Amino acid sequence: MDGNYDVAAIRREFPILERKVNGFPLVYLDSAASAQKPRTVIETQREYLSHFHSNIHRGVHTLATQATEAFEGARETIKAHFNAAENAEIIFTAGATDGINLVAGTWGRANLTASSTVLMTRLEHHSNIVPWQILASEIGFKIEVIEIFPEGTIDLEDYNAKLALAPSLVCFSHVSNTLGTINDAKQLTSLAHDAGAMVMVDGAQAAPHMNVDLQDINCDFYVASGHKMYGPTGIGFLYGKRALLDAMPPWRGGGEMISSVSFDVPTTFNVPPYKFEAGTPHISGAIALGAAIKWMESVGLDNIAAHELALTKYAHEKLLQIEGLRIYGTAEHKAGVVSFLVEGIHPSDLGTLLDQLGIAVRTGHHCTEPLMDWYKIPGTVRASFGAYNTFDDVDALVAALERAIKMLK
Ligand code: PMP
Repeated sequence: MDGNYDVAAIRREFPILERKVNGFPLVYLDSAASAQKPRTVIETQREYLSHFHSNIHRGVHTLATQATEAFEGARETIKAHFNAAENAEIIFTAGATDGINLVAGTWGRANLTASSTVLMTRLEHHSNIVPWQILASEIGFKIEVIEIFPEGTIDLEDYNAKLALAPSLVCFSHVSNTLGTINDAKQLTSLAHDAGAMVMVDGAQAAPHMNVDLQDINCDFYVASGHKMYGPTGIGFLYGKRALLDAMPPWRGGGEMISSVSFDVPTTFNVPPYKFEAGTPHISGAIALGAAIKWMESVGLDNIAAHELALTKYAHEKLLQIEGLRIYGTAEHKAGVVSFLVEGIHPSDLGTLLDQLGIAVRTGHHCTEPLMDWYKIPGTVRASFGAYNTFDDVDALVAALERAIKMLK
């Protein structure tokens, strides 16, 4: 227990942490890829599937009413937790990737022209790059890259210089999944707005690790993924300011997103958020995501952030004692992500040996190839922390690394 943070009690809530991998107790250091699930999330999904599964919104029967209330209750939980102004601003998506594609496919297609410029940072995950590249190849707008410093922070001088190009949109990640850099979302948003640009924030790595206040940040769009917030896969949300959502054309066509459909007069569309939620959604996922957010709130995101920061500092200290090890991402404000390389050893060889010792880390480019190219490296080994990680996990990583390095050198 560090301070009042009872990590042992938290760990007991995660059944998967009891298992062994290759004969060793699991040391799970891959929460940036996907977080494990507490019992309340597993139970919420089971309860829904066992007791009140039904399609939502259209039914008059009891199960439909209960399922609809739980689904809309989850939307309310997200709205309150992230401090959106109204429930209509929270659109359920399949995840962060899906949300960004929605913004590109609706707002982007309606508002960007051949003479537009879109700015994005060199830190971006492929999911906040490729949807814009696909749209750019169709429309012909220009993509400009905001440069970073070697420690992984945004070069504000370069940002200001690129804002002088009068971009229509600025895209940035709140927290880098590869380097852990926490970007000052409020400041970057305010600078973009001053330059007349809209702002799309990828919050996939921020939402599980800190309190996020959307009205305070004042961005136009924000996306997150449920599975990184201790919730299920295949569910997440897009936040958009109501006036923008009202003005945006629909995305996918189908049931629920319409107001009325006709062969004789033009089909009309529903109001947000339903306008963007065609078809039957991931109902159990949304309800369990609500439970996951409540679980994070019960621990307290400030407590989770402080615990993960302590682990990150400890990991930096311990890892740097290993000869030839270099850490990528040393920003002063960083989340629980530690990317590193050991001189002369390929990251995937290290990852494979660590797995044999029960340690789950991620290796590769982490869907940030432009960033890896900039550092001139093929990828890194990435250890990332969740609420349930311990200082012993870091010690186990370091001990296993020392063993693996001896075997590989
Ligand atoms: N953005 C960032 C920063 C991420 O780390 C990830 C997931 N690795 C994504 C977007 C995409 O999330 P998802 O695969 O859940 O859509």
